[in-house]
Amino acid sequence: CGIVGYIGYREAYPIVIKGLKRLEYRGYDSAGVMLYDGEELKLCKTKGKVSDLEKKASKAITTNGTIGIGHTRWATHGVPNDVNSHPHLSNSGDLAIIHNGIIENYAPLKEELIKRGYVFHSDTDTEVLVNLIEEVQKKENLKLGKAVQVALNQVVGAYAIAVFDKKNPNEIVAARLGSPLAIGVGEGEYFIASDASPFIEYTSNAIYLEDGEMANIRLHKAMKIRKIKDDSLVDPYIQELQM
Ligand code: GLU
Repeated sequence: CGIVGYIGYREAYPIVIKGLKRLEYRGYDSAGVMLYDGEELKLCKTKGKVSDLEKKASKAITTNGTIGIGHTRWATHGVPNDVNSHPHLSNSGDLAIIHNGIIENYAPLKEELIKRGYVFHSDTDTEVLVNLIEEVQKKENLKLGKAVQVALNQVVGAYAIAVFDKKNPNEIVAARLGSPLAIGVGEGEYFIASDASPFIEYTSNAIYLEDGEMANIRLHKAMKIRKIKDDSLVDPYIQELQM
């Protein structure tokens, strides 16, 4: 299982696909991508290999958008199939998430969301998390980063996530607890991945999030890293990778 994300000026799709291939060694049963073309979220996901995803995406993904996220899944909640594959969208269709890990308390959270009118299309714990983020965002009128933080503080489990919000498309929010997450820092571009292999050829500057940290990754802005629990800011420690 692995995650990849890109926000910058290059075509995102090839970077994301190539990145997923580099993460194949981690093992997975399905794969998927979300690309943002400036207006819409384009989603393509499938049970099977990244090469199967590529075949499917050659028809489905027609954008050369410069923002994208991708995922290889190792199913924990819900069988491996196309619908359960990531990315998952929120009910409004605005938010997209990729997630490695397990949301242990997804059942009561899901029940509560269903009471509030949310509909679920997959059997995953991940779809519960993206809708919880949406519910928090709407109820408290929060920006994505804050909403992710409030939602994660209600969650028990393990995660490396990347979340994108169509309403504020210059940003990806990433967070980790128990699953690895590296951020590549380029000039006018950022990369997100389970390890540095998907972005090593583009930048040698990497930040490894620590457990319990989240990052607001915004185009043309310095990255903000904070602790999910108490909101305290963390000084980003940039490591120089050997290329
Ligand atoms: N728990 C999530 C699922 O089953 C994520 C699994 C993973 O780490 O790939 O969809």
